[in-house]
Amino acid sequence: MIDSCEQVPAHLRALAPYQPGKPISELQRELGLSAIIKLASNENPLGPSPMALQAISQALPELALYPDGSGHELKQALSAHYQIPQPQIVLGNGSNDVLELVARTFLGPGTSAVYAQHAFAVYPLVTQAVGAEGIEVPAKDFGHDLEAMMAALRPDTRVLFLANPNNPTGTFLSGATVQAALQRIPSRVLVVLDEAYTEYLLPQQRYPAMSWLQQHSNLLISRTFSKAYGLAGLRVGFGVAHPEVIDLINRVRQPFNVNALALAAAAAALQDQAFLERVRALNQAGLMQLEEGFKRLSLPYIPSVGNFLTVRVGEAARVYQALLAQGIIVRPVAAYQMPEYLRVSVGTAAQNHLFLQALERALHAAT
Ligand SMILES: *Cc1c(COP(=O)(O)O)cnc(C)c1O
Repeated sequence: MIDSCEQVPAHLRALAPYQPGKPISELQRELGLSAIIKLASNENPLGPSPMALQAISQALPELALYPDGSGHELKQALSAHYQIPQPQIVLGNGSNDVLELVARTFLGPGTSAVYAQHAFAVYPLVTQAVGAEGIEVPAKDFGHDLEAMMAALRPDTRVLFLANPNNPTGTFLSGATVQAALQRIPSRVLVVLDEAYTEYLLPQQRYPAMSWLQQHSNLLISRTFSKAYGLAGLRVGFGVAHPEVIDLINRVRQPFNVNALALAAAAAALQDQAFLERVRALNQAGLMQLEEGFKRLSLPYIPSVGNFLTVRVGEAARVYQALLAQGIIVRPVAAYQMPEYLRVSVGTAAQNHLFLQALERALHAAT
């Protein structure tokens, strides 16, 4: 190893890089295929709201200027939409950025973070990147075992990550369950409630997490425009917490971490709640379509409240390859200790149909 790299701390050299879904262009290059369906990264098959696209065109002529580093307009829109004062909001280059900022602000050598087995891969990554210790708590029915997570808290634990719904399993804890846990978690532990998929919840599943902030100064809620709002390519998300928590995070944040087009698009997207209704309806129909398909193929799946389903196919690596050969990209989740499963994002009815057909062929090819 070259000298400069040898000096890098062991906890960084031991990092396993995040494995993103395979890009469409890469599979096109490899296979020479033109028609490719990507159901690998929980992206929105409807694309962004037309209002977001219009805001982007309007912002284009200003691209020579730096974005507003405080993101005032977007924060104002978020503040009005969620009834949250602006000093309680931090914007991120995707919510991934918010998670990383939390780690850089609250974690470091000599501290630890608690998260669940099969939870979002970014939690161990950001924890390890800052030299903190990750405490992975075994899952219960593929979901978070909150009791065990609370029991795992140590005196040096500074952050508890909780994805609700969780990715890649789609599991969900009721609002009452999360709220009851919050009452018991010591206030020195920042609870990061990652709600990347919250917009997909059915009305009876929704819970008012933002209203808990008044009582719990150790709660940070993270949200994203990447999933239901269909803006994954722009990179914009946000965190909401006590003003002191936000103030500390802002000291670590890059001054221009959210780009100008993302700021404009997100503010516009927030206004188009009719679009979100269409997104939800398409997703519900798609979940049912995929579930029926899996039942027909006798494949066990984990019931999901997100925009994806994780299904047990046996030799997942082979089935994944057999799907790729047919121009369909899904997500292997072996890195999540689920080597027999594949995660598939809900697409349009036509995409789901083609996926199910290809899956049936892939299963035969793989046996
Ligand atoms: C997709 C996802 C995110 C973050 O996505 P960004 O594009 O960075 O906003 C965060 N948490 C979970 C659980 C996710 O699945």
